Amino acid sequence: MNVLVTGGAGYVGSHAAKLLAREGHELWIYDNLVFGHRGAAPAGRLIEGDLLDFDKLAGVLREKEIDAVMHFAAFAYVGESVTDPAKYYRNNVLGTLSLMEAMRATGVSKIVFSSTCATYGEPDSVPIRETQPQRPINPYGFTKLVIEHALADYTRAYGWGYAALRYFNAAGASADGDIGEDHDPETHLIPLILQVALGQREKVTIFGDRLPTPDGTCIRDYIHVDDLATAHLAALGKLEKGTELKLNLGTGRGTSVREVIDACREVTGHPIPADVAGPRAGDPPSLVADPSSALQALGWKAKFTEIRPIVESAWKWHKAHPKGYGDRG
Ligand code: UDP
Repeated sequence: MNVLVTGGAGYVGSHAAKLLAREGHELWIYDNLVFGHRGAAPAGRLIEGDLLDFDKLAGVLREKEIDAVMHFAAFAYVGESVTDPAKYYRNNVLGTLSLMEAMRATGVSKIVFSSTCATYGEPDSVPIRETQPQRPINPYGFTKLVIEHALADYTRAYGWGYAALRYFNAAGASADGDIGEDHDPETHLIPLILQVALGQREKVTIFGDRLPTPDGTCIRDYIHVDDLATAHLAALGKLEKGTELKLNLGTGRGTSVREVIDACREVTGHPIPADVAGPRAGDPPSLVADPSSALQALGWKAKFTEIRPIVESAWKWHKAHPKGYGDRG
């Protein structure tokens, strides 16, 4: 297939693009490089552009004879979405609607969309099934939920096919260590811990150790980025007119912040000092996927089910690329 990968120079998008290429698809990356990295995109496949540039998008969809879109491009800092919601609604909602309109104008009707467990907000119970109510507690989660609804409406009205894949905590890096996670600013737990091991940071701060979990620290479902990539390709293969897939992508296994830190200590051999602060606003104590729908619908399940090999793959990338892609200003 000819696939347009928006945000394909970003963390999850670049891993999906790599897999698409390996599986023989013809792919093009569309990325404005605000958070993406030139070095993360396969050579000669990057088209620099913004989602809000309808004409450019429509031109690319037409010229490259695109059959389907994988849409990763979005802003994804929860905290920033609270302080600057306009930026999130503009990029994640208006930008995606611009993409969807460009698809409509050019007759492209298949899309795999990066959604998030943040659309569930504070879940009634864990593990989380797709049937649980979606009540996001921050603008980032809302922007993703708005698009899930828009995709459902377009699909019913215009005969599209879509998959909304609700990621839990993306982690790890490509097995060959040539692409990985590089955010600026970095806010995610595993890269922050690994920066301590690299001597770039003195310590890691645990956000809350008196939460209602076995060791008092937050529990998350860390899913390897290559497992996310595999799920995207499986979903792409299922898209027909009228397909609606809304699927959690996680391992079904929760890992606490302390367990993540311990795994990083074992993998890196660094003591990794940690202190404790209060919980981060809006952080639910536990978010774990029930991934059984993805198994049923796609025959997909995560290969990485333990935190240690996920950390090992991340460490391989960070050790080899202590400055990430080395393109920060
Ligand atoms: N966390 C932490 N210290 C940090 C960063 C994150 O204790 O410096 C915790 C955070 O509260 C959450 C988990 O680690 O429970 C994963 O956070 P991350 O920001 O990586 O992903 P999120 O779950 O927010 O999407």
